[in-house]
Amino acid sequence: MTKYKLEYIWLDGYTPVPNLRGKTQIKEFDAFPTLEQLPLWGFDGSSTLQAEGRSSDCVLKPVRVVPDITRTNGAVVLCEVMMPDGETPHPSNKRATILDDDGAWFGFEQEYFFYQNGRPLGFPENGYPAPQGPYYTGVGFKNVGNIAREIVEAHLDICLAAGLNHEGINAEVAKGQWEFQIFGKGSKRAADEMWLARYFLERLTEKYSVDIEWHCKPLGDTDWNGSGMHCNFSTSYMREVGGKEYFEKLMAAFEAAREDHIAVYGPDNHMRLTGKHETQSIHQFSYGIADRGASIRVPHSFARNDYKGYLEDRRPNSQGDPYQIASQILKTISSVPTGATASVAA
Ligand code: ADP
Ligand code: MN
Ligand code: MN
Ligand code: MN
Repeated sequence: MTKYKLEYIWLDGYTPVPNLRGKTQIKEFDAFPTLEQLPLWGFDGSSTLQAEGRSSDCVLKPVRVVPDITRTNGAVVLCEVMMPDGETPHPSNKRATILDDDGAWFGFEQEYFFYQNGRPLGFPENGYPAPQGPYYTGVGFKNVGNIAREIVEAHLDICLAAGLNHEGINAEVAKGQWEFQIFGKGSKRAADEMWLARYFLERLTEKYSVDIEWHCKPLGDTDWNGSGMHCNFSTSYMREVGGKEYFEKLMAAFEAAREDHIAVYGPDNHMRLTGKHETQSIHQFSYGIADRGASIRVPHSFARNDYKGYLEDRRPNSQGDPYQIASQILKTISSVPTGATASVAA
């Protein structure tokens, strides 16, 4: 038997953006535990905005377990928060009620800033560094500094060892700003992995005295970029049948549901979706081939391939909840009839 360190993690009750929480319990297993072997656990919901003082116990229900190479015999156990009966999802538990479909694939591009001493990593104490330009996909100390690369590389290794579908990294447009991509088949799978990757990044940066600033426009109304979380999506129908007529109906449905999408695409998004720079205004909906100023970008490959493949919704921001983003996209897609050939959403 081996003693495993099980870090149960969950999303708390803070709004509009939940925080990640976690605590460790030690359990013995013959081999790395399966999900079925992991017991329910509890925590004090009155300390996480998830319960009133009296009867404050909430239940943690494991939904995914992954290896954690940063600890000897470590595992991270992603949990849903349940009511004390252990069966009713807590109101803060969005995952429990989202639409899901294994045929729907999601690729999230998570942008974020490294912050230290209240400013982006690499910013001088007063004023600003050289303007944006050389930082995006940049190399060299003057462009990316010395700690950031070490962190993003270590994060990548942790995610890969955890079995997450991490797909890549790049330095972003602002100094101190980076991106990683997570891909998953099914909204729960993709979104679970994004929350796990966020957790690993926050925990990793503790020892560097660096914070992750997830806000979509931390530098406000300046010439410094904000952070998005573009959501690339496709259903089996989009990949296998597609066609221009279906695509145009889909885009009409997205336009009609614009407010429902914006409602779950992350807080303060009006600060980022100004219509200036590479963003469509939060009040407009548009799409275009290879158009990075549109709400939805249609990749060249999609248009060339008879309108089959994936689309990129550029509106979700860095603080968006991937569960609700994916679910809303599925909801809108499933409102569009696909004919007799296939059904799309759950
Ligand atoms: P960008 O040019 O917008 O920076 P990235 O390379 O950062 O693009 O991200 C593209 C994302 O699209 C990746 O996360 C990838 O997994 C995702 N993707 C690729 N093909 C599909 C598909 N068929 N369905 C859904 N997502 C996809
Ligand atoms: Mn990208
Ligand atoms: Mn990007
Ligand atoms: Mn993108």
